[in-house]
Amino acid sequence: MPLEIVTIPCLKDNYAFLVHDPDTGTTALVDAPEPGPIEKALDEHGWRLDEILLTHHHDDHIAAVEALRALYPGVRVTGASADERRLPALDVAVKEGDTVTIGAEAGEVIDVSGHTVGHIAFHFPASEVAFTGDSLMALGCGRLFEGTAAMMWKSLSKLAALPPETLICSGHEYTASNAAFAVTVDPDNPALTARKAQIDADRAKGRPTVPSRLSDELATNPFLRASTPELKAALGSEALSDEDVFAHIRKLKDEF
Ligand code: ZN
Ligand code: FE
Repeated sequence: MPLEIVTIPCLKDNYAFLVHDPDTGTTALVDAPEPGPIEKALDEHGWRLDEILLTHHHDDHIAAVEALRALYPGVRVTGASADERRLPALDVAVKEGDTVTIGAEAGEVIDVSGHTVGHIAFHFPASEVAFTGDSLMALGCGRLFEGTAAMMWKSLSKLAALPPETLICSGHEYTASNAAFAVTVDPDNPALTARKAQIDADRAKGRPTVPSRLSDELATNPFLRASTPELKAALGSEALSDEDVFAHIRKLKDEF
């Protein structure tokens, strides 16, 4: 049976995810912003926490690790070997191409540096889900705090190549502001216009817009569409490389 995903709103606009393998009863958490809502969600489902997978070192993704270790003795913490010095003590250090398991299901580690250097994503192909943290987000991507635009473009290109039906579980509810920006760079994209209307309606009702489907991101996320002739034409940047168009869009968003 596929992994069961529970989205947990944390802090102001973070998301953590419980990932439960019904075949073995194993439960993992992806990112650990704060312990309270995570413990509550585990209790509601009657699950015990076995694994914590960390996407990157920022405090809003790791702050609860020690509290959860105390609550669930023996919980196994996995993160990027490249970032060991900045992460809580890891039980398992992984790099691109390594396999992580949640119960019976195997996931692939993908290096998605850009927002930070050492940021990783986890892709579970059998359940068609990827945990992308602050790399690929719903209608957006993370700010370039540590990496270069070239690095982030490479990272996004790897995620864009996953099967389009993949569910993208990302780290923040930034979608409404991402949508407001997206329509300024890609105004003639009907799929984007329709998605923005749906997002605005969902947010007006307080509904989450994460996770999202990769196929929708490919059709509407301007950061993934930097390589398309349509977006290059809309920006008047037909002569630029994909990577430079991405860098330009990222800069416009930073200034938006
Ligand atoms: Zn971050
Ligand atoms: Fe974050």
